[in-house]
Amino acid sequence: MALQFYDTLARKKRVFEPADPSRVTMYVCGPTVYNYTHIGNARSAISFDLLFRVLRHHYGDGAVIYARNFTDIDDKIIKASQESGAPIAEITTKFAEIYRKELRALGALPPTSEPLATAHVQQMIGFIERLVAYGAAYEAQGHVLFAVDQFDKYGALSGVDQDEMIAGARVEVAPYKKNAADFVLWKPSSDEDPGWESPWGRGRPGWHLECSVMIEAGLGETIDIHCGGQDLRFPHHENEIAQSACVHDGAPLARYWMHNGFLRMGDDKMSKSLGNVVLTHELLEQWQGEVIRWALLSAHYRQPLEWTEDLLRQSKTQLDKFYRLLGENDDTSAEPPAKIFASLADDLNTPEAFAALHELRDKASQGGGAGRAAAIAELRAAGRLMGFFNADPAEWFKGDVGDGPTADEIEALMQRRADARAAKDFAASDRIRDDLASKGVIIEDGPDGATWRRR
Ligand code: AMP
Ligand code: ZN
Repeated sequence: MALQFYDTLARKKRVFEPADPSRVTMYVCGPTVYNYTHIGNARSAISFDLLFRVLRHHYGDGAVIYARNFTDIDDKIIKASQESGAPIAEITTKFAEIYRKELRALGALPPTSEPLATAHVQQMIGFIERLVAYGAAYEAQGHVLFAVDQFDKYGALSGVDQDEMIAGARVEVAPYKKNAADFVLWKPSSDEDPGWESPWGRGRPGWHLECSVMIEAGLGETIDIHCGGQDLRFPHHENEIAQSACVHDGAPLARYWMHNGFLRMGDDKMSKSLGNVVLTHELLEQWQGEVIRWALLSAHYRQPLEWTEDLLRQSKTQLDKFYRLLGENDDTSAEPPAKIFASLADDLNTPEAFAALHELRDKASQGGGAGRAAAIAELRAAGRLMGFFNADPAEWFKGDVGDGPTADEIEALMQRRADARAAKDFAASDRIRDDLASKGVIIEDGPDGATWRRR
């Protein structure tokens, strides 16, 4: 069966043909690690985790090489370090580790490699020297800039033309630029700022350069698929394309470009600058990772996704129904149903794959005997492909989340509270209630005794 993906550059779905089926390469622009990421950021990582899974299923686990970088040098990180007094490396190591942990909780497979920008600075300097030699980069006041008029396909990915960029002030105008659309490859660092010695003085790399260099170093000149959020098409990906083509004799950076749509809150895109963010680590204290993953994949990755509490509740209800069936057997011998793989192979059509999962669930729950058992095993296999049904069903219904108390721990505290109340030690019973409330567990006293639920 052929895979096909919507290619942003071609503006249409194209049959996917890797350059080498025994070594399929994909790259996703990863986070700048200076604080917690939000669930919109996770949408990008989870959409392309699904792509990674689909490619592995088709070409073999060892045949797919997936790199997702960490931007660990950036003005925002420097500012975070100045404000908190913590060294840069401490901040970036901490938030990279948190990001990995969050994505694990959301059922994402680890990428094949996670290159760090700071580990590639010498290659970045070499890359800029090649751009200068080619005539596409120039030095000005300690900066090195890429001259966009040296690349005739500039703007082809995003469709943004240069006049529009300047008129819309989407690029920073600076006195040292020949053309307002030129972008920084290298910039000077003050004595207090982190910096590296270079032919242009002590400085640090620009963000766009990092991905081009890490792709060349880790994956090669031309990769199969380059992914990221829709907002990265311009200027970030446009700039990556231009830099890489100029040092590689016009060879394209990627053969397919895939971009995820925005996760929205109300009428707006979720974004740090608008302040309407839900942080992933906070959400993971309230909801099981698979519930969040289900919600993220419920819409097609290119469509906008409206993020609501209701979406999470519905996702939990759906998953509960699957887990009830999965508890009936533990057969892991089935293959994912062809229909579900076909939906995913068609530009990651998750709404269609979900519909097929529901159909299969209905078939299982309405049937009996061997047919029912086989359908359950197929559901389990489909879940394995898509990153669902990883929990033991009995554990699933305990609903343990994040680093909070487990169901067993809560039950033990509920018993202690009941004992305290029986002994009329209301101070102790209130302490237990407040302690649980601070961990997101709400106790409700009713005629049949006390029950608990997570907030
Ligand atoms: P940033 O930290 O803003 O560079 O974002 C990291 C990744 O998340 C990029 O691929 C962004 O395009 C993506 N992203 C940021 N905000 C959203 C959103 N609201 N919905 C979907 N993807 C997003
Ligand atoms: Zn990038």
